[in-house]
Amino acid sequence: MSKLKFIMGLSVIVALSACTGEQTKKDAPEEFKWVADRFADCQILRYQVEGFDQMTLDQKKFLYYLQEAAYWGREIIYDQQYRHNLCVKRTMEAAYANYKDAKDDPEFLQFEVYLKRIWMSNGIHHHYSTEKFLPECSQEFMTKMIQNVPDEQLPLNEGETKEQLIAKLLPIMFDPTIDAKRVCLDPTKDVILESATNYYGEDLTQKEVEDFYEKMAKKNDPQPLSYGINSKLVKENGVLVEKVYKLGGMYSAAIEKIIENLTLAQPFATTEKQKEYIGMMIELYKTGDLKLFDESCVVWVQDTDPVIDFTNYFIENYGDPIGKRGGWQSVVYMKDFEMTKRLQALAENAQWFEDNAPFMPEHKKKEVKGISYKVVNVTAEAGDNSPSTAIGVNLPNADWIRAEYGSKSVSLGNIENAYDEASKTGGTLSEFFLPEDQAMIKQYSSVAGKMHTALHEVIGHGSGQLEAGVASPDATLKNYSSILEEARAELVGLYYIMDPKLVELGLLETNDAGKAEYDSYITNGLMRQLTRLQLGQNVEQAHMCARSTLAHWCYENGKAENVIEKVVKEGKTYFHINDYAKLRNLFGQLLKEVQRIKSQGDFEAGKALVETYGKPVDRVLHEEVLERYAQLNLPPYSGFIQPQLVPEMKDGQIVDVKVTIPESFVEQMMFYRNNYSVLPTYN
Ligand SMILES: [Zn+2]
Repeated sequence: MSKLKFIMGLSVIVALSACTGEQTKKDAPEEFKWVADRFADCQILRYQVEGFDQMTLDQKKFLYYLQEAAYWGREIIYDQQYRHNLCVKRTMEAAYANYKDAKDDPEFLQFEVYLKRIWMSNGIHHHYSTEKFLPECSQEFMTKMIQNVPDEQLPLNEGETKEQLIAKLLPIMFDPTIDAKRVCLDPTKDVILESATNYYGEDLTQKEVEDFYEKMAKKNDPQPLSYGINSKLVKENGVLVEKVYKLGGMYSAAIEKIIENLTLAQPFATTEKQKEYIGMMIELYKTGDLKLFDESCVVWVQDTDPVIDFTNYFIENYGDPIGKRGGWQSVVYMKDFEMTKRLQALAENAQWFEDNAPFMPEHKKKEVKGISYKVVNVTAEAGDNSPSTAIGVNLPNADWIRAEYGSKSVSLGNIENAYDEASKTGGTLSEFFLPEDQAMIKQYSSVAGKMHTALHEVIGHGSGQLEAGVASPDATLKNYSSILEEARAELVGLYYIMDPKLVELGLLETNDAGKAEYDSYITNGLMRQLTRLQLGQNVEQAHMCARSTLAHWCYENGKAENVIEKVVKEGKTYFHINDYAKLRNLFGQLLKEVQRIKSQGDFEAGKALVETYGKPVDRVLHEEVLERYAQLNLPPYSGFIQPQLVPEMKDGQIVDVKVTIPESFVEQMMFYRNNYSVLPTYN
């Protein structure tokens, strides 16, 4: 729960339907190219940095140095994920840079796809499945490509010849049985021996590793350290030792550059706490002291609302089969001013929304406060969080810190926005919506989706109250509590998105935005989200199930008046809303009921609602939807091109900082190669 939220595939975006900030007026969305590249099972998107112009020069400098601290660290994750990754990557990049023949040669194109996949996954194992993928070009072609590179441009070990390098790399790249999986989670196997990850020495067994940490951890420690988070465990002369990632230790060359840039950034910190935090981070990179790691997390959490914020360390442990070691990552982000204003307006009117909710009077709070929900815009990501990215940051991970000091949670608004914009070009809109409904969705879905999410988070979850003596929903509604709570928050959003109050508050231009949200919501809940399920599966995931429950309940209960009409055209099913006002009324009725279920802890009613409307899948419709979706041939995974902040210098001083958004993935990756490569090939 404490982890980052991950996202795969475009359909999820519709699910979340959140994104931030209106398009900047200067940059009309149709002029901005959201999808930059497409290969294998991936697409590469670009994102915009809205609000950067509103930053002061000091803030821009701060963002610039944090970006540098991020990009200098970016090769660490390659080495952490597999010991040969940097050797393969550097050899491939050198071969690519030296290639002079026809760019449309089929074997060259296959070579290029392999290189792009390595960049996408930070190594030769798939970023999501962690399985090794293979080049599709021939070994002969690969050999020829490497032979064409001058020796001094190749990552040769001391005394190693080019032929020896080729002989070493070919099986690593082409043999599917060698280091086949980066993270093996099969409980019947020795997950340390079977995983190709470079977090452990090659000969270590799971038993040895577990014994090592069992001895280290203190029994019943209320504040346990994150043992292993910043080191590699190896055996030296028969004894297990941690090789710590720190200055003078493992990855020292990159860490030196990170420290250098954090030091340059520190004077421009946006709060005093942040200045203190950066000082601790520098010290942490110098010492690797785990106690200091926890202390720095505490200071970071206490810095609740800085204009600019960032992560830069060894953080998430998904890449370690036993979940101890952290992959290096950095995310740099700044407040989304536009969205912050909007959320504030909602929070300030929280009592109005409570008073006007269609709840039974006894289920309304006398005094309600809006829940804090933060949206930021990313300016740089690197390491474990790039090119494939989370859409939120929710840290720190240590449970005791979360319990004692809380956590910080933000949504990466401009990333979500890019997903959302890109999804409009993929053909799902024209595939799943009737022609007459498409224009309004196209025009308003971004702004409406954001508004819905804001209502869901700021107003929805905080609304309503339990009746006296009723236990908390996890005790009364048990396994249905999170589905019903999501349904309740969704309904608050749906009920209010059509309310004139939003236009009155200046939050929406017109009620048409609400109609567009109804259109996309109903189609998603009844049909489109089925693309995420395999045939025969029921709807189980909480958000999906909530959506399915609401859409099906309204469809069935509005049938007599034909509120939502099922239309079949040329063998394709669509759902069309005939009466938005009546649909809003249905949402209101259901909201009242779901609130009653929660307020009274009515388990049986909650169960019946979810089991009847939410979980079942119409198999015939599911088959149809999967077939239609497959024909769109959309890539399931997305990566991102990062903006590049470029300082303008005068007399050795930074006088301004400009944002550029590189056009091509290849261009950016080769730029990184030429400018931020500092680690030894083997660490
Ligand atoms: Zn929610």
